[in-house]
Amino acid sequence: MRRLRQLAGIPVTELAGIGPKKAEALAHFGISTVLDLLMHYPRRYLDRTNQAAIADLALGEEAMVLGRVRRVQSRRTRNRRSLVEVDVTDGTGYLRCTFFNQAWRANQLKNGTQAVFFGRLDQFQGRRRMSNPVVDLVGDRTGRIVAVYPQSDKAGLTTWELGDWVEEALQRAGELADPVPAGVLGRFGLIGRTAAMRGIHLPTSADEHRAARQRLVFDELLRIQIVLVRRKRDVERRAAGIAHDVAAGLVERFHERLPFPLTEAQRRALDDITADLAAPVPMHRLLQGDVGAGKTLVALSALLVAVQGGHQGAFMAPTEVLADQHHVGIRRLLEGLTVPAEGDNLFGERPVRVESLTSRTTAGDRARLGAAVAAGDVDVVVGTHALIQERVAFRSLGVAVIDEQHRFGVEQRAALREKGSLVPDVLVMTATPIPRTAAMTVYGDLDVSVLDELPPGRTPVTTRWARRPDEESEAWARVVAEVEAGHQAFVVCPLIEESDKLEARSAQQTYDRLSAGELAGLRIGLLHGRIPAKDAEVIMDAFRGGRLDVLVATTVIEVGVDVPNATVMAVIDADRFGLAQLHQLRGRVGRGPAASWCFLLADADGVAPDGQARLEALERTNDGFELAEVDLALRGEGTLMGAQQKGRSDLRLASLRRDGAWVSRAREVAFALVDGDGGLDAHPLLVDEVDLMLGDDDTDDEALGERREFLFKS
Ligand code: ADP
Ligand code: MG
Repeated sequence: MRRLRQLAGIPVTELAGIGPKKAEALAHFGISTVLDLLMHYPRRYLDRTNQAAIADLALGEEAMVLGRVRRVQSRRTRNRRSLVEVDVTDGTGYLRCTFFNQAWRANQLKNGTQAVFFGRLDQFQGRRRMSNPVVDLVGDRTGRIVAVYPQSDKAGLTTWELGDWVEEALQRAGELADPVPAGVLGRFGLIGRTAAMRGIHLPTSADEHRAARQRLVFDELLRIQIVLVRRKRDVERRAAGIAHDVAAGLVERFHERLPFPLTEAQRRALDDITADLAAPVPMHRLLQGDVGAGKTLVALSALLVAVQGGHQGAFMAPTEVLADQHHVGIRRLLEGLTVPAEGDNLFGERPVRVESLTSRTTAGDRARLGAAVAAGDVDVVVGTHALIQERVAFRSLGVAVIDEQHRFGVEQRAALREKGSLVPDVLVMTATPIPRTAAMTVYGDLDVSVLDELPPGRTPVTTRWARRPDEESEAWARVVAEVEAGHQAFVVCPLIEESDKLEARSAQQTYDRLSAGELAGLRIGLLHGRIPAKDAEVIMDAFRGGRLDVLVATTVIEVGVDVPNATVMAVIDADRFGLAQLHQLRGRVGRGPAASWCFLLADADGVAPDGQARLEALERTNDGFELAEVDLALRGEGTLMGAQQKGRSDLRLASLRRDGAWVSRAREVAFALVDGDGGLDAHPLLVDEVDLMLGDDDTDDEALGERREFLFKS
């Protein structure tokens, strides 16, 4: 019984026919061991069980023909390439097969030889032809489904060479040890490891291939879920958390003072969180919700649970600008809210104290604030991730909220774990809707709550792809009309990823053009990344205060900007933006009761198919989760699942869309194994494989980080 680790120790040069040159070519694919080779799965399969008669072949179609060689001719082309021409017949007709640079074919395909030829039929000088078909001598591989491997002609490897090596490797490997308990396999109707490995490379039927793929997909998903579940349990076991006082009443008072009731979704999420906070195990929860779903309120309620029990809360935003905005917003929401004062008389109350600590905080303020935080005089600190990394000393940090928006907090959470003896509860918020299965795969070490409902009173944004040149004027007409009706507008400038400077210049041009042209006479402001923070604040304030009608801006407005009076947005060159980004941008309008519009300006012709699909998806729906699914499909989840990783790779066959149900099953099994009798120690083979495939914990953090990054890239 061979373990994968053993196969990982055998260099491919052990196989017949792999010398230093071939080994080097294989190394280009990252294949250096027998295990690498076996996990180099076929890209597709040619079903050669369906062979055709030569007379029935259609031009341009791939087909397989079984025939006998009638004539062989070797010669050189004018540019000195070797050319072997073989005439083949199956009794119904003749076919010419031509082979370039394969002089050895003359020996392989002697007159009278029976062989299978697989290729695409074309025509050359009136003659039906296949050039460079795949050839198998009869008795060798007829009537079988043949695997086609990802290979590169440049590297000088052919798919059938790879196939031969794989076959030899499988033969020599023999019986493979199976790390998954038989009970699990039985429950899900999965086949054994050895059969699966054979079935993926050498299937004899479509059913066999399907069963093989299913098993290997399960293995991939199980391995990653084991890593995630193990990490989750490790953190819980190792760390002593705070059992918060969830009944002290501050949160209720906060809710009673709100001008609106919580949505059902907010209530559900808060119930999850409250249960976590009451438990002595540190919370690690992801709060997912579309733009405007009301995450801030939920997060703030969690912070207040900490505060009411005498602990402190930290709220971390991804950027300084957002930290400032959150600071202002949170202060406003908590205004007038009090907590019992310590020390004084029993009935003394003091206001909940919220402070902001960013890199813009002056040294003097920083020292003062630091001391107040250390003394426990500050209840909630709002800042950037630097709050943790700069080792701000809290008297007792109870709950940390990480608003990660497009970033992620793997390292931040690790840093939190290392702070103090009691580990604070952590709530990660993300505005990017993540498909459920993707969330389970990349956030599987967290529990997840979803705000799947927007607060009432929102009017969905009407989105239009304004096709240039004809329809552009409609967008500007709408902007002018909305401003005349007392509303405001955003104009988003073309995205130029390569350079801040170029982007700023182009934004300036857009501003100049619109001020002199379509939007002449309106009060227009300009905002881009090169405008100093102080000036940017003045502009933002003017827009918020209604002293500007239109804000021409780059994606600096992507997150957090909350101006309910803005009812129209025009995105210039919208096809250059990612789907998630456009959805985020669009979230800046439709925040008030008035009907809102989003115009996506892009050429009528010349938008790439992917771009078209993005624009059409946005026209079709406002649902972030639906868009996230579209996005994942468009960008190819391969990149997500098989993210280039240091060390060995893990997910190769699994597809989040296709195998979504298996993600849940694998997760369930992972929990059962980790939590079962003897824990993972009872499954040493599996642990060994997980470590082999997914490396040690550190590289895995990185891989996880990369996958998360991919989710948020647009
Ligand atoms: P998110 O952080 O999810 O983008 P916010 O928490 O910023 O959303 O909320 C967006 C807006 O909706 C804010 O103006 C907030 O006051 C408002 N809001 C939040 N919850 C509710 C609710 N339950 N009912 C009505 N309005 C709400
Ligand atoms: Mg928000």
